[in-house]
Amino acid sequence: MTATYITTTIPYVNARPHVGHALELVQADVLARHRRGRGDPVRFQSGTDDNSLKNVLAAQAAGVGVREFVDRNAEAFLALGDALSLSVDDFIRTSRDRRHRPGVERFWRACAHDLYQKRYEGLYCTGCEQFYTPAELRGGSGGSSPPELAQRDGCCPEHETEPQQVSEENWFFRLSRYAVPLREAISSGRLRIEPAGRRNEVLAFIDAGLADFSVSRPAERAAGWGIPVPGDPGQVIYVWFDALCNYVTALDYGGEGEAWRWWGGDGDRIHLLGKGVLRFHAVYWPAMLLSAGLPLPTAIFVHDYLTAGGRKISKSAAGAAALEPATLAAAYGAEAVRWWLLREVPRTGDADFTVERLTARADDELAHGLGNLVNRVVAMIRRYRDGRVPGAGPVPPGGEELAAAIGQAGDRIGAALGEFDFRQATAAVWAIADEANRFVNRARPWELARDEDAAAQLDAVLGLLARACSALGRELAPFLPDAAARITRQCTPGQDGRLPAPSPVFRRLTPASPGPASPPARVPAGSGTAG
Ligand SMILES: [Zn+2]
Repeated sequence: MTATYITTTIPYVNARPHVGHALELVQADVLARHRRGRGDPVRFQSGTDDNSLKNVLAAQAAGVGVREFVDRNAEAFLALGDALSLSVDDFIRTSRDRRHRPGVERFWRACAHDLYQKRYEGLYCTGCEQFYTPAELRGGSGGSSPPELAQRDGCCPEHETEPQQVSEENWFFRLSRYAVPLREAISSGRLRIEPAGRRNEVLAFIDAGLADFSVSRPAERAAGWGIPVPGDPGQVIYVWFDALCNYVTALDYGGEGEAWRWWGGDGDRIHLLGKGVLRFHAVYWPAMLLSAGLPLPTAIFVHDYLTAGGRKISKSAAGAAALEPATLAAAYGAEAVRWWLLREVPRTGDADFTVERLTARADDELAHGLGNLVNRVVAMIRRYRDGRVPGAGPVPPGGEELAAAIGQAGDRIGAALGEFDFRQATAAVWAIADEANRFVNRARPWELARDEDAAAQLDAVLGLLARACSALGRELAPFLPDAAARITRQCTPGQDGRLPAPSPVFRRLTPASPGPASPPARVPAGSGTAG
């Protein structure tokens, strides 16, 4: 048993959530559920970054008070827990949570030996909440601009907006001291960064030389929003310093609570995050932890971005409401949204979301491939065996691949999730359904049922198919928990020893096409004799 602490990043609440936010939440939820299913103690944490200057600017633009604006958007993020069936244990809001501010202040003091004041001039992107050197901006000597984007020299590579020239007195953190221990932790794997390309990116960044970074802002520029620097109320703590601390403040950092074991113990500490905030999590945060004398995370899993219909997802774009995860879940079901995110988004590289892809994937695999299979098998067992599942026997001829898919699924899923590969993990589940459908069409139980001499063979075929359905109910649990429970109910005999009447496990999202694809001898759902 490994105690596991899993976190998502805490998004800015300058707008409502979009489908890109759902990716990280669903991935983290699957890891949490999978480890809980293994018997590991798990704490899964999410939250919102309320203290960003971006939130202040967005509220001003909307003509709404910052508090009201932040609360409203944070509520929409919190509501994703129910909308997407997330098993979140703790949700921290950095402006509201009573644990956060004292924890950040304590963390600041723990790093005091690495903090100093300096006048600073630089180019600042409010979108990123970060200073850029000219080389890092678009068109700069160090930048590499994707060819598909129009070149706008001197702009933020992430936001394509012009940075502000800022000159101010700030507190700085002595990041430069930590290059050697950071490099050692990452290259030794003590701090694992996946995929490997992201680890190499971080190592190259460290090797290029680490400059100290500014960790405060004048309170005036932050419109008074944020956490004042202890002992220097004219400055507020830089929002990234503040936000990164959420991973430990929610565990009662510096307090006496038992929650601290999730960070202070010897279990796994896993951060999930998007590629855009890699540097903050893989360089700044571990250096802050080293400075404060705290353990490092054990793993950082980095995902790429979603596009929508081939375009970058923008919170303010027209049609943004249609890309809200809660809207999608209400229209197509949380399971269709989860399944698309897990089945189609690759481990590396961006993925393009469209509603057509979402519904096609759900209809092909969930309604047709998985749902029909379970209904057919249950209907056949009720029709040919009075609802009693035949006992386990030898694998019938032609059933070897299916038996292998069932037997290997657990290990394949464990290995894939260990590599943060959700496509491989769901492929192992899908292999059971796929092989089972092939096997039904090969074994043709409806013909065996007409042959009195084939009774033992029919038992073996139905027995293996029943095993396949039970395995689907079991292995699907981390990915689609509610569907897994429905399948398990369908495959569990009642008090009379018989399987319950089949009912649809998934609904179709689009009308079935009348094409020639239907297999000829399908046992229709609900056609069991005892129904
Ligand atoms: Zn930016």
